[in-house]
Amino acid sequence: MKVLGLIGGMSWESSAQYYRLINEGVRAARGPTASAKCLLWSFDFSEIEALQHAGDWGGLEAQMIDAGQRLARAGAEALVICTNTMHLMADAVEAAAGVPLLHIADPTGAAVRAAGIGTVGLLGTAFTMEQGFYKDRLAARHTLEVLVPEAEDRALVHRVIYEELVAGVVRDASREAYRKVIERLIQRGAEGVILGCTEIMLLVGQSGSAVPLFDTTSLHAQAAVELALG
Ligand code: GLU
Repeated sequence: MKVLGLIGGMSWESSAQYYRLINEGVRAARGPTASAKCLLWSFDFSEIEALQHAGDWGGLEAQMIDAGQRLARAGAEALVICTNTMHLMADAVEAAAGVPLLHIADPTGAAVRAAGIGTVGLLGTAFTMEQGFYKDRLAARHTLEVLVPEAEDRALVHRVIYEELVAGVVRDASREAYRKVIERLIQRGAEGVILGCTEIMLLVGQSGSAVPLFDTTSLHAQAAVELALG
């Protein structure tokens, strides 16, 4: 089994899900007492979030590279960044650490394609929904047409992530608001919706949705298990 290096704490609410899902996956494959060999670097998210909202992506890249190198030095054989947003600097982290990195958009794009879907909605932070690093990879590598919510809905989705979900707050009113955002994406042609922020699975589940929802936390964790077990 390969040693996984998890770059987490963004937020720890979702890193805890990764840790559980990866260990559950290894147990299912290898037997009841089997568990994952992994290392976790967990950031103080208050520091990360402050740099994100200040637009200091250079400072963030330096911190992410430092984390990747620490994990590589400690013996990680594959890196897993436990957030969608911070894949903005995935290539730089992989190059600096010298360890292969499992990009979250790839198992996600593959799952969407495997479901026979060509046009998919994307929910995530404003950074993920508005910048190219994520949408472009889904388009280029997985030939998907990606729809993001309109500006007002993007602001709502972003606010709920940073003011509620990363703080462990799960509100019925926000779940309902997300449902409406998803409905509007479906009306515009989305045949499925990517939950492209690793905390959204704490708020929204598949039940009651008119189209398939693709939870990036579960898809990324499952792909990490497959990578670790070869
Ligand atoms: N976990 C979130 C994501 O998947 C947001 C937190 C972050 O900015 O890393 O994008």
